[in-house]
Amino acid sequence: MTDFPVRIRPAIAAHPAYKQGKQAGAEAFKLSSNENPFEPLPGVVAAMQAAAGFHRYPDASSPRLRARLAERFGVADDAVHIAAGSVSILYQLAHATCGPGDELLFSWRSFEAYPGLAIVADATPVPVPNTVAGGHDLDAMADAVTDRTRMIIVCSPNNPTGPIVTQAGFEAFLTRVPADVLVVLDEAYAEFVTDPDAVDGARILAAGHPNVVVLRTFSKAYGLAGLRVGYAVGDPRILSAAGTTGIPLSVTAGAEAAALASLDAEDELLERVRTIADRRDRLAARLRDVGWDVPVAQGNFVWLPAGDRALEVAAAFEAADLIVRPFAGDGVRISIGEEESLDRVVEVAAATRL
Ligand code: PMP
Repeated sequence: MTDFPVRIRPAIAAHPAYKQGKQAGAEAFKLSSNENPFEPLPGVVAAMQAAAGFHRYPDASSPRLRARLAERFGVADDAVHIAAGSVSILYQLAHATCGPGDELLFSWRSFEAYPGLAIVADATPVPVPNTVAGGHDLDAMADAVTDRTRMIIVCSPNNPTGPIVTQAGFEAFLTRVPADVLVVLDEAYAEFVTDPDAVDGARILAAGHPNVVVLRTFSKAYGLAGLRVGYAVGDPRILSAAGTTGIPLSVTAGAEAAALASLDAEDELLERVRTIADRRDRLAARLRDVGWDVPVAQGNFVWLPAGDRALEVAAAFEAADLIVRPFAGDGVRISIGEEESLDRVVEVAAATRL
């Protein structure tokens, strides 16, 4: 189509759009997108429906949810920013901080949206290889900072491999990062963490690091992936810049109401999170028993380091109606789903280990 007249920026034309995990048929377990296997609580659904007034625009800054989250973090309301999923906030922050020739640094492999953030901002993605254990090599990341670095993402627990960054490790890392570089601590899976040494964004912010923004989401632990609500906590000047680069009015009133109702029902939802974390620990142990070198798993997923066999291994899972997420040449991520899926996962894992 070389004669097609509309000009697309070459960097965009060369970069594929974000590709989500496969959808699953009725018989299959969908373990490909780190979703919560529990259906929404009836009270949450009712709150969403009661938000009504869908002929009106929502209140653009989701003020009630912001106030509620601000109270939890012990910060002012303008130190919280809401958007339609935390991935939206990543894009907003990249656009707010990075321009042509700037560098956006992250550990790799990590959340597959990260490289694209740099591309759309005309910046350069700088992936720093994970450690062999699948964690962040924070020393190597600090070494990779240049005077063009404008944004760094630290993902704990790391999607898709599973390990956390420790509080001490993150604090030490921050001492090596210039104060004018934004550090985003992506804690999409924070609620599933059971390791007491893991970094805690709230503690980092309380200690006063104005260049750190903490990112959380209602998609995982709170089970609202389909409604799209994520939030950031940090310095209001950074968050207001994120607001400027964001698409206005993208958080719906129904989504805000559902998020608030989820906070009301937190005890019950966090009980589910404990169930999932327990399933995760049991599954990781069984996968190790059958010979897979599964890294520390602190999110709601486990990682099979299948290397060149990733696609083949994922196909074997799919043939058993287990929809998992392969990363070609690297590994296979399996989200923690229904209890009934576990035996089948272990069975296929044992058969593919050989
Ligand atoms: N960060 C990480 C590490 C993720 O894995 C995801 C979702 N897969 C997100 C952010 C985005 O989540 P959401 O947009 O649903 O809040």
